[in-house]
Amino acid sequence: MFIGHFAVGLAAKKVAPKVSLGTLLLSVQLVDLMWPVLLLLGWEHVRIAPGITPFTPLDFYDYPISHSLVTMLGWSLAFALVYYLLKRYPIGAWVLAVGVFSHWILDFITHRPDMPIAPGSATYVGLGLWNSIPGTLIVEVAMFIGAVWLYARSTTAKDKTGTYAFWGLIAFLVLSYIASIVSPPPPNETALAWGALTMWLFIPWAYWIDRHRAMKK
Ligand SMILES: [Zn+2]
Repeated sequence: MFIGHFAVGLAAKKVAPKVSLGTLLLSVQLVDLMWPVLLLLGWEHVRIAPGITPFTPLDFYDYPISHSLVTMLGWSLAFALVYYLLKRYPIGAWVLAVGVFSHWILDFITHRPDMPIAPGSATYVGLGLWNSIPGTLIVEVAMFIGAVWLYARSTTAKDKTGTYAFWGLIAFLVLSYIASIVSPPPPNETALAWGALTMWLFIPWAYWIDRHRAMKK
């Protein structure tokens, strides 16, 4: 899942208005941001296997640090705790804990059974929404439109940057999503990992948006 994760981060702004959109997007995407780094370090592995699911050509056969149920609970607690110690904003810490963990729930719904319960575990789970291209698109696009609507309604731009930076990010996410669907599989796993690192770009972009938008009264 891709823009569905961003949808959770955008929607969370209404629940925890004092948390920057940058931190919210960092939480929901935390493990997908760690993932390319772990691939490049050789600690996790992926295989390009066209046809493995109708929606994605990627075989996520080894990613227990970033995507197992147990480590995800750990990342969720650690992220929320660090935030709480820095900001002392309990609602924010709770929302971020849920944000990090929501990634596992959404990936569990979309992935084929390739998500380990824990590192070293032989039990893999996944409901396989990716087996249906229309199903994936309907769920993910509906989540995204709903979240963009909610975020745009509950916040307001303080200046022109607040408008353009926000809608620019949304447009860029939509284009990246379309590109990820229509482009051919990456040439190899290393190129895939370097490509995935570009997802980091959205984080400073979202912090920038947050400084130029305020909650509506
Ligand atoms: Zn993921």
